[in-house]
Amino acid sequence: MKFQLLPSTFDENGRASKRQHLACFVVDDLIAFDAGSLAISTSVEQRKNVRDVVLSHAHLDHIAGLPLYIDDLFATIKRPIQIHATAEVIEILERDIFNWSIYPRFSELQNDYGVVLEYCPFEVEKEFSVKHLMVKAINVNHKVPSVGFIVSDGKSGFALTNDTAEVSRFWEVINETENLSAVLVECAFPNELSDLACNSHHLTPQVLQKELGKLKQNCPIFVVNIKPMYVEQVSRQIQELELENLRILEVGKVYEF
Ligand SMILES: [Zn+2]
Repeated sequence: MKFQLLPSTFDENGRASKRQHLACFVVDDLIAFDAGSLAISTSVEQRKNVRDVVLSHAHLDHIAGLPLYIDDLFATIKRPIQIHATAEVIEILERDIFNWSIYPRFSELQNDYGVVLEYCPFEVEKEFSVKHLMVKAINVNHKVPSVGFIVSDGKSGFALTNDTAEVSRFWEVINETENLSAVLVECAFPNELSDLACNSHHLTPQVLQKELGKLKQNCPIFVVNIKPMYVEQVSRQIQELELENLRILEVGKVYEF
């Protein structure tokens, strides 16, 4: 399984930077988990093939690229873009994003080939398929309704917390999962901003360390979704935990699980 966190910012020479403003993880150049930087830094191959987008929640940094992506591809879409999300998130998208004011309601529009956008609601803790992947969504602990994912292609798999504070059910389900090759866990803020992390339902390295005490899987753990302002600080504090399996996921790098 190929896995890549798409870049969301670029340095003065146009190279991808490690500052992550947006969240979009692409699997096998085919399926996007969250859509923050979709359209912004997708490869030619990904732009041609990604027609399935699985959303964790509706915060802007996780959906920002979605309207732009559909707009960009609009006239050429032969198979509609399928948005997989909970009913709650779909309702928010239709009410607050695709509402004709912020952007067109693509679910009501057609091109020469037919409809361009379809919603595929999923329920939490009920496995569903997206192309060759099986996906299970588990409620996590964020400021708005949000889920983490456990994803498998039958041979290997990964778990992705998405944005969250402390959880228990998510770790329970992970611990029961076989053939897990990687766990991706958020850590948005440094320890000094624990109040802000607590109020906005995110993790700090200190709390992350406690959370990882609940994990019974022996596979690599990657930290994602670090607020760009604090990437150096959080990276240093993660290193100081001296946990053997724990590292920061590199933005733009293609991993094979
Ligand atoms: Zn969020």
